[in-house]
Amino acid sequence: MEGSLTARDRVGIQDFVLLDAYTSETAFMDNLRKRFNENLIYTYIGTLLVSVNPYKELGIYTKKQMDIYMGVNFFELPPHIFALADNVYRTMISETNNHFILISGESGAGKTEASKKVLQFYAVCCPSTRLLDNVRDRLLLSNPVLEAFGNAKTLKNDNSSRFGKYMDIQFDHQGAAVGGHVLSYLLEKSRVVHQNHGERNFHIFYQLVEGGEDELLRWLGLERNCQNYRFLIQGECAKVSSINDKSDWKTVQKALTIIEFSEKDIEHLFAILASVLHLGNVQFGASALGYATLNNSAEVHWLSKLLGIPSNMLREGLTHRKIEAKAEEVLSPFTAEHAKYARDALAKAIYGRTFSWLVNKINESLANKDSTRKTVIGLLDIYGFEVFDVNSFEQFCINFCNEKLQQLFIQLTLKSEQEEYEMEGIEWEPVPYFNNKIICDLVEEKHRGIISILDEECLRPGEATDFTFLEKLEEKMCGFLDKNNDLLYRNIKEVMRQSKNSIIQHCFHAIEPDVKTNNHNTTQFKSSLSGLTEILMTKEPWYVRCLKPNHCKQPDRFDDVMVRHQVKYLGLMEHLRVRRAGFAYRRRYEVFLKRYKALCPDTWPHWKGTPAEGVQRLIKHLGYKPDEYKIGRTKIFIRHPRTLFATEDAFEIC
Ligand code: ADP
Ligand code: MG
Repeated sequence: MEGSLTARDRVGIQDFVLLDAYTSETAFMDNLRKRFNENLIYTYIGTLLVSVNPYKELGIYTKKQMDIYMGVNFFELPPHIFALADNVYRTMISETNNHFILISGESGAGKTEASKKVLQFYAVCCPSTRLLDNVRDRLLLSNPVLEAFGNAKTLKNDNSSRFGKYMDIQFDHQGAAVGGHVLSYLLEKSRVVHQNHGERNFHIFYQLVEGGEDELLRWLGLERNCQNYRFLIQGECAKVSSINDKSDWKTVQKALTIIEFSEKDIEHLFAILASVLHLGNVQFGASALGYATLNNSAEVHWLSKLLGIPSNMLREGLTHRKIEAKAEEVLSPFTAEHAKYARDALAKAIYGRTFSWLVNKINESLANKDSTRKTVIGLLDIYGFEVFDVNSFEQFCINFCNEKLQQLFIQLTLKSEQEEYEMEGIEWEPVPYFNNKIICDLVEEKHRGIISILDEECLRPGEATDFTFLEKLEEKMCGFLDKNNDLLYRNIKEVMRQSKNSIIQHCFHAIEPDVKTNNHNTTQFKSSLSGLTEILMTKEPWYVRCLKPNHCKQPDRFDDVMVRHQVKYLGLMEHLRVRRAGFAYRRRYEVFLKRYKALCPDTWPHWKGTPAEGVQRLIKHLGYKPDEYKIGRTKIFIRHPRTLFATEDAFEIC
């Protein structure tokens, strides 16, 4: 007994639900810190997994570890992401239903790593046949490709995902992974043309310039020097010590082949990347009248060659726009300033659309053609709340997304909790909690919400500015209108449609919604978010909450203030309270009996009656008082974890 207490003192408690002072944030923090100092980065709150980024390799993700966690009851081993993955998987198999794992936390907290660990666990541990081996490879290799095109070095994370990702892994009735599907959200396109100090553009550009074969670079008109490309050096940190662009390039190339991109696809894809870099170097001069002129022709020459568009067309598209005057189309020249803006809009559009094409292509390769019924586990790795000194349009969208997910979390957690009590015939008092619906409404409500006002302003080109928007909102936010509009002039789109590059053709031929019907970024984002909510609502939720221990990406450093802040806004204390308010522990009678039957002579080694009767006999023998537990239809519910604690202790002594 003493031995186990000492151990607990040192390594803390592996489930916050078992914490005596469960309402105390200090006790919560103490436990988290204690465990972190012992390299125990995982702790449960019931079935929710809290993870603290160790910023060092812990050697806990080996095949051996996977084997240990495979098929073992959730609470019987130290908390681990594999335990959660395994539990989700087994629940899916036994109940033939769909699940999702929502991984949240701020940038650099370890979300993407966690989602990769889950995917690896399934790829390695699920049964498979030779035929399906390629599905497994493609599932795994979709990651490096998406990361190359969608991740970048930021101040917070050297491999920061700049898009939200939802991935379905499909399983057949034997539990083999047979396919997948990826949805991407809100790629941060603005990074293509601008990076803050200390940040980079998307990895793939540096990989291409550093790792691309001589012959390829020659064909693309590129030099092996990132410093030569304006779009690559705005943050002044093209080289990052933790990143090996050269070897990452090899990985991506191999992955592209395995995911079955054709040679032509790959060729066209690289041509697009090079085009974006050339586009970034296009400089405009000003004519005597102040109109944009295009001096250097080298970039336009390469653009023309790589995109298969006549250079005079390109030149015109980059310096003019078409306006309609009295049913006639007239070319109106840009000012030099305006031309830069249009050039950047084009670069963003090309990259953004190519990224969507890439995701579609990956989906084609992951698609399972067989129509038998499948169950899925969805993995949601979406960026968490972002708060900077100056918050812009991107933060608005990201944070709104998080509010929506929090809303879903509240609905699903409380709903499922209540439903379970109801199903088991147990009474309970609902716990008060902060419902963030008012915040969601503030943003998305029809006619009155921020999005609605923003879109309205965007429909008054020329008249509306951030300041008129500002007046309407009486808040400080700048650059919103531009970013929401992402305006691409019609004639440059027409020019792009002439491209001989099949990807560009595809990307710019997709039917363009009329400007008057709502095509604004926020509204698209809002509808894709409601789509996501719908996808999630039909599935059983599991949660991983990732915490970032410090701002310096350093191991063994636990910044109390910073972690406490995250614990607060992730609502972990609230979640714990909800879990504790009712009956913190519940187990099916069979499971409970199997685990603890050795503690009572009547139930050991065999109990002849029903499991429910066995459990009742067992807990009476252990001295549980009537108000400490409830007997449900299929499960025993235990109110005070302390009681269970004693049971666990007794068990350990045995
Ligand atoms: P997020 O997706 O939340 O922004 P990442 O998953 O990309 O964060 O993690 C950031 C970095 O932290 C990783 O590149 C890795 O170096 C480190 N890291 C995250 N999780 C772990 C882990 N479980 N073990 C070791 N290092 C980790
Ligand atoms: Mg990430």
